[in-house]
Amino acid sequence: MKYVDEFRDPQLIRNVAGEIARSVDPNHEYRIMEVCGGHTHAIYRHGLQDVLPENLRLVHGPGCPVCVLPTGRVDDGLSIAEHPGVILTAFGDMMRVPGTRGTPLELKARGADIRMVYSPLDALRLAQNEPTKHVCFFAIGFETTAPSTALTLLRAKALGVRNFSIFCNHVTIVPAIRAILESPDMRLDGFIGPGHVSTVSGCRPYEFIARDYGKPVVVAGFEPLDLLEAILMVVRQLNAKEAKVENQYRRIVPWEGNMPALRAMSDVFELRPYFEWRGLGFISQSALKLLPAYAAWDAEVQFEIPGVRVTDPRAAQCGEVLKGVLRPPQCKLFGKECNPEHPVGALMVSSEGACAAYYRYVRYEDDAANAQPVTS
Ligand code: SF4
Repeated sequence: MKYVDEFRDPQLIRNVAGEIARSVDPNHEYRIMEVCGGHTHAIYRHGLQDVLPENLRLVHGPGCPVCVLPTGRVDDGLSIAEHPGVILTAFGDMMRVPGTRGTPLELKARGADIRMVYSPLDALRLAQNEPTKHVCFFAIGFETTAPSTALTLLRAKALGVRNFSIFCNHVTIVPAIRAILESPDMRLDGFIGPGHVSTVSGCRPYEFIARDYGKPVVVAGFEPLDLLEAILMVVRQLNAKEAKVENQYRRIVPWEGNMPALRAMSDVFELRPYFEWRGLGFISQSALKLLPAYAAWDAEVQFEIPGVRVTDPRAAQCGEVLKGVLRPPQCKLFGKECNPEHPVGALMVSSEGACAAYYRYVRYEDDAANAQPVTS
């Protein structure tokens, strides 16, 4: 199959869904985590849970970069915008993430020079066009976006652009999966591996999940048929009592990864000893920082960063949702204090966040089924 329509073909979808239903053991409850926020969004958008057997539950993982950024780090980034002559730039979904004193968008409304960009390269161009200002890019994301930050830094250095810096919050997915596997609440049978991250990292980094924890991993694409095929591949491994890494998304994901992208990352980044993740706490060697050779472009060197630590509101249960212990509507604030217009937690901000996706695509069906209107 070559085209998107084929991956949405209703008959093919029915066939694979039927095969999953015939393959599952009715006496077992299957819990399969989709690690990637893009998968979470696709699952809700296409209503895939509805075509799966009731005893097969998809559990939403930590693969939404906005969702795992702790509030303190948002505050740290916003503190940069308070320096005179600084333009802080960020991706669109980052603009609505709440810090303790408001979102970047709210700070902008109060006079801070904070601008949305579509890429780090846009931020670099802005620095070139505004030589009397300092432009800082609030970098977030997994291996999917880290290469574009790396390539932008290489270009900034080559061009000698010195009024530009990166506030680096890039994280890597493997240590987060390991933290989930080590969690005492962990009750997962297998994983749908992240499609976008794997285009860069390849499939090999997941081999420890199968080898050391005995859990199948199938890297998947983002169309309904991709995801259903990946689920079937996980179920077949479980039935055969196997645990290995398979690649359903071969049309995009190279097994060994994207070498030029990985090289660009290793040219400019090193691993931080530890980094705080929302809901998962501090995870060692789970995030990237700029190498000392790039200190002149490192916002954490160029500015005094307060290093704020903020605990989430007590009633917010983002951590439990991120670890797959709770489903979004089981959070006490879901659809009430926390909704897309007024997000309390970051899972309600990004379209890849489990709470936002659930709120957008599923809650009305639940309302109808439960006859309990959601107030918002
Ligand atoms: S509903 Fe809001 S507070 Fe609750 S888990 Fe989701 S994002 Fe966090």
